Amino acid sequence: MAYGLHPFITPDADGAIGEFGGKIDHPALKTALQEIEDGFHAMIQDPSFIDEFKLLRETYVGRPSPIYHARHLSAGGAQIYLKREDLNHTGSHKINHCIGEVLLAKKLGKKKVIAETGAGQHGVALATAAALLGLECEIHMGEVDIAKEHPNVSRMKILGAKVVPVSFGAKTLKEAVDSAFEAYLGDVQNSMFAIGSVVGPAPYPEMVAYFQSVVGHEARAQFQAAYGCLPDEVVACVGGGSNAMGMFNAFLDDQDVRLVAVEPAGEGLDKPGRHAASMTLGKKGSLHGYRCYYLQDENGEPAEVYSIASGLDYPGVGPQHCHLHDSGRAHYESADDVQTLDAFMRLSREEGIIPALESAHAVAYALRRAATQPKEHRILVNLSGRGDKDIDFVIAKLGL
Ligand SMILES: *Cc1c(COP(=O)(O)O)cnc(C)c1O
Repeated sequence: MAYGLHPFITPDADGAIGEFGGKIDHPALKTALQEIEDGFHAMIQDPSFIDEFKLLRETYVGRPSPIYHARHLSAGGAQIYLKREDLNHTGSHKINHCIGEVLLAKKLGKKKVIAETGAGQHGVALATAAALLGLECEIHMGEVDIAKEHPNVSRMKILGAKVVPVSFGAKTLKEAVDSAFEAYLGDVQNSMFAIGSVVGPAPYPEMVAYFQSVVGHEARAQFQAAYGCLPDEVVACVGGGSNAMGMFNAFLDDQDVRLVAVEPAGEGLDKPGRHAASMTLGKKGSLHGYRCYYLQDENGEPAEVYSIASGLDYPGVGPQHCHLHDSGRAHYESADDVQTLDAFMRLSREEGIIPALESAHAVAYALRRAATQPKEHRILVNLSGRGDKDIDFVIAKLGL
């Protein structure tokens, strides 16, 4: 399978992707992140890494994930197809980059991976990869999130990870990032920081997009083999942007394929603090050490954000997406909570697939779009994860 990133979204020597991205300024972190970047570039040239990564994808993750034609959802207009990343081991696309990151940490001689987690999805995927490859894993998580996401905390502990509760500030994701970075800074010799999306300073956007690119390469070949053509549109939800980037990368040269990323409009784009539509309503600036569009308050600080899907609950969006947005190659749309819950229930009841609430945003957009297109029109949706984690919330929300 062809691999690698399209030049248009590959950073230059300064970590810049168009006017976005960049390298970290912090002196101690600069050296540490350069070591990770050099290690990453060496590793992806190494045939023994490529072989090991490929074998784990096939025998452990369960790749390739299939493409499924959702005929019931397609009854009202265009044809909807799902790339089933929900069928991966651990239930989402996140395992694709976590295995890559832990393989790199091991190659660099590190003993431990450190990360933050919000809802716990990245924490669980990273703890899984660390258990598999024999590294220690330390996950920083806000106390508020620990209370809310108990099953994921238990999963991490069973997998052998150390979960570090973060008890300052709002005790959620932002504080968890600060806490994890501090722990990493205190131990750069023995540990590697493992970010959970295509965000942050170089080399993370490039590295995570590279590890996720298998999704698009697979999907493009599978679609062509099954239907003798490419999809007219490719759709994915976007939090930081990793599942969307993994999918879009392989289609960048196919100018006839419309690329659509779907942001969470939450309770409405007119309600500040009650959505996380970073591209739609954000401004350019510098967030967590890289340039991107992010939602800002009146002082230019990251604004409060909200999404029904905690994996999309992030004020910024990765630099590659910002560059695709400004170039006009990809389109950024949104779906609100009501549309998302409707899509969640329709996919469950009409196709027997319970999606993650994150992924349901992409399905919601596809359903809306399909109703305006002829039945020959083909829409491929990246179904980034399964919804087991969301069932209690949905039952309570809908009063079922
Ligand atoms: C974390 C997560 C997302 C959002 O992350 P991206 O980096 O934007 O892909 C989407 N879907 C699922 C199932 C997730 O767990």
